[in-house]
Amino acid sequence: MARGFDIRVDFYFEPAGNSLSFAAARRRSQRQIKRFIPMLMSGKEYLQSIRDGRIIYIGKERVKDQTTHPAFADGARTYAALFDMKSDPALRDVMTFEENGERYSMYYLQPRSQEDLRRRNRAHRKIADFCFGLMGRTPDAFAGNLTGLSMKPEVFDSEPGGSRDNLLAIYRHIRRNDLFATYAIVPPQGARNKDYYLAKGLPQPALRVTAEDDKGVTLNGMKMLASGAAYAHEVLIGNVMPLAPDQLKESVTCVIPLNLPGLTLWSREPFNRLGLTRFDRPLTTRFDESDCMLVFKDAKVPWEKVIVHDNPGLSRDIYIKTAAHVISNHQSNVRFGSKLRFMLGVASLIARFTGARDIPAVRDTLGRLAAMEAGYNAMIDGQIEACQPFDNGFVIFNRRYMYAAIHWAMENHSQLLDVVRELMGGGQFQFPASIDVLEDPELRELFETFWTAGDFAAADRMKLFKLAWDLVGSEHASRATSYEKFFVGPAFAVRNYNFVNAPWDELHAAIEGFMESYGTGERAADKPPVHLRRTS
Ligand SMILES: Cc1cc2nc3c(=O)[nH]c(=O)nc-3n(C[C@H](O)[C@H](O)[C@H](O)COP(=O)(O)OP(=O)(O)OC[C@H]3O[C@@H](n4cnc5c(N)ncnc54)[C@H](O)[C@@H]3O)c2cc1C
Repeated sequence: MARGFDIRVDFYFEPAGNSLSFAAARRRSQRQIKRFIPMLMSGKEYLQSIRDGRIIYIGKERVKDQTTHPAFADGARTYAALFDMKSDPALRDVMTFEENGERYSMYYLQPRSQEDLRRRNRAHRKIADFCFGLMGRTPDAFAGNLTGLSMKPEVFDSEPGGSRDNLLAIYRHIRRNDLFATYAIVPPQGARNKDYYLAKGLPQPALRVTAEDDKGVTLNGMKMLASGAAYAHEVLIGNVMPLAPDQLKESVTCVIPLNLPGLTLWSREPFNRLGLTRFDRPLTTRFDESDCMLVFKDAKVPWEKVIVHDNPGLSRDIYIKTAAHVISNHQSNVRFGSKLRFMLGVASLIARFTGARDIPAVRDTLGRLAAMEAGYNAMIDGQIEACQPFDNGFVIFNRRYMYAAIHWAMENHSQLLDVVRELMGGGQFQFPASIDVLEDPELRELFETFWTAGDFAAADRMKLFKLAWDLVGSEHASRATSYEKFFVGPAFAVRNYNFVNAPWDELHAAIEGFMESYGTGERAADKPPVHLRRTS
């Protein structure tokens, strides 16, 4: 049976080494599309589908198969498990929805009511809880962006260079084939020093269109930083930070498969390595989602995959003027909420295992953490409670509350980790280098005698401290700290979103109205009190 992922691999390009012309490859893929029977992908099918010949480098090593390579295989299994969740009969209605007789992943639902927002929220929560919020780029993350873009496609028609039809076709293609996409929408840091490259006559590192013809565009340069790219099927290339009007050729926005000829994925140092055990790194070995720089060398993208071209303003506005930012970042909020619950549970267990949990100062700390977790998760529910109407009959999560939650998480994550670290004391450093001490009878006896504390067996204590360390201190944990600071963009950008969405006029009017209600020399009882009116 032809499946979505089968057609994706050579969706519009001939496979490497095949001499088919571009047009012939397309004609063939169109024939394949006719045979396509839409279905949701299982985990096994997903794993098969990402073995698509994409080029991933770890340093100079070329990864032949990311589903079996030690750096990526465990992560791939976690993603496969997320795909399998959709076929669990008990979760079918949480994870999927039906439209016109076809079933799709819930994260592609375009919300038309508050209940639809709840349905999206429940699916995000299931996925986030599965990974304890430790993976930012689960398939529901970019899906929120794409769905949000599709809810106001007229933005693409509003200015030259946008393509509403292409956007909608891409949305339908991805959801119908149950694909997982990610995004890379930031220029590399080196791109700031434009004059250097110009003066030396060197190609600039920021991705740009270097040629165009009737078939499409040719891309050269780099894009930062596609989390999940080793595991996703497709990637959106775009610009979330403002571009100057003269950055015309950088303003390209397109959605392409990760096995596109001319595209290579340069992985950061993976944290999951051969020999690392689940016991030692229970989180790293499951949840290292990968981050790759995307490098384009004469990569050809057909016009039907380009959604913005030669329009710097529009290339950024599409995220804000559509529902993309708000729908996708609600998912980020839900994910962080799961992580916070996980952190709270770990903190409390650590305090229990150190024997300090009932000391008033430690209870106080745990109480503070519990209040933060509850308050944050209430901010997420509040986004549904105070949902907002959107264009075209859709509804969205409360935008301000969403940006406030993003900011809260960005500001507090490091501090929360520090609290857990403090609760651990020096605990994790007391344990032997490896649990293999259990394999030596003499060492085992000593370990079990001296490391057992009251009711808590030595191996259980070590297991919990290893888990906690993977949350706060390992390489994986450290990367997560950078992720929480930067995944939406730098802090000043997040604060700017909060600034531009605040109802300043209404707030000013309320204060000015109140000040007008009294003058010099008046007594309090001379005028009735003014009531503050809220519309937002
Ligand atoms: C782990 C991780 C995963 C990521 N995953 C993705 C992904 O999947 N997709 C994607 O597109 N991007 C991703 N990113 C990239 C992320 O969007 C960027 O890191 C972020 O936008 C910041 O850009 P930058 O790293 O170039 O830092 P810079 O912009 O160079 O900023 C560096 C520092 O300088 C400060 N700074 C810079 N300019 C100013 C200014 N004008 N005013 C005040 N301060 C300033 C910043 O606040 C920051 O502290 C990821 C980043 C990380 C760390």
